[in-house]
Amino acid sequence: AKQAYTRTKPHLNIGTMGHVDHGKTTLTAAITKVLSERGGAKYVPFDRIDRAPEETARGITINISHVEYETASRHYAHVDMPGHADYVKNMITGAAQLDGAILVVSAQDGIMPQTREHVLLARRVGVEHVVVALNKADGADPELADLVELELRELLDEHGYGDSPIVRVSGLRALEGDPAWTEAIESLLRAVDDHIPVPVRYLDAPFLLPVENSLTVTGRGTVVTGVIERGTIAVGDRVEAVGLGEGFTAVVTGVETFGKTMERGQAGDNAALLLRGIRREQVRRGMVLAAPGTLSAHRRFTARLYLLTESEGGRHRPITSGYRPQLYLRTADVPGTLTLRDTDLALPGDTVVADIELAKPTAVDHDLGFALREGGRTVAAGVIQELHT
Ligand code: GDP
Ligand code: MG
Repeated sequence: AKQAYTRTKPHLNIGTMGHVDHGKTTLTAAITKVLSERGGAKYVPFDRIDRAPEETARGITINISHVEYETASRHYAHVDMPGHADYVKNMITGAAQLDGAILVVSAQDGIMPQTREHVLLARRVGVEHVVVALNKADGADPELADLVELELRELLDEHGYGDSPIVRVSGLRALEGDPAWTEAIESLLRAVDDHIPVPVRYLDAPFLLPVENSLTVTGRGTVVTGVIERGTIAVGDRVEAVGLGEGFTAVVTGVETFGKTMERGQAGDNAALLLRGIRREQVRRGMVLAAPGTLSAHRRFTARLYLLTESEGGRHRPITSGYRPQLYLRTADVPGTLTLRDTDLALPGDTVVADIELAKPTAVDHDLGFALREGGRTVAAGVIQELHT
């Protein structure tokens, strides 16, 4: 029989972000190693994290690794991703749903372009709390590390993360068992425990889970995974699939987190739901599972948009009505056509109101934040103001 998950501590979703090769995956492995020695984790080696199974859905491939661990006061689900594009997709579609992030910066290399972009991205998608791991401190000249720290302070201040702790670590040395660097990982985890607050969870709201992935478990049926956005779910509850095609309702016959059974999944949990009588093909990334009758799919809505400037990674040319970018709404990724309100043309840096028509009905809500992307770059951030049919 499967082990049961006992909820003794608050659960938070965090993850590593930062420039490629600054040591995100090494640090993730080191955290599980250090905590495994205290019974707070199962050690997950570098190779197991870096070779995450690809989740392929409708042409977009997303690489994401989930590990779990516990400190004295919290239970964490931690995501790590191999490439910059994976961060962009997961963070803006909300698949990562981070309550806080560990920004990994190499003390030897300093701030690099993806460091900046991830800080910006974190701010745009509403990650309120960041802790910095100034990594590779083992081989860094201390004066150079001081300089990097000064630059980091400036970057953090600029984006409203002025109170972020910066902890010097060496993921690699901690992984090798060096006691001084093991202690540094413990300091980093204390900073995470202290600095990232437990977010408000909407447990009384109707259940909603944006689908990240679906898989077939031989002999058991179809399992759907994702982070519960609001409400609670238990075995025997019914859920309705909304958006991106034929909806259905199904009875939940199993609720798990990290391979352990749960009596009740709740907002914030990284959950796997077993659905009775559903084929894998019926469920797709981008749909949501909701309490029946509480949410509907829409193709048209009005939104307020902020167009990123070129220095923020956006376009350098204006957009006009008829513009057709890709919209990232929760875990969905759908083309949409824009009609600008009150203007013919919007420039990077502008805030405008637009009517948007999606290619497919998608589960959306009033006040839902989303991103607009084109040719691999984020060009705008939006918030839904009014839903139409
Ligand atoms: P990621 O791309 O950010 O996930 O970076 P990786 O974890 O794959 O690390 C990239 C390279 O940096 C690897 O060769 C690691 O062994 C090395 N590395 C990671 N952490 C440290 C560290 O703390 N000190 C040193 N000296 N090297 C490190
Ligand atoms: Mg990596």
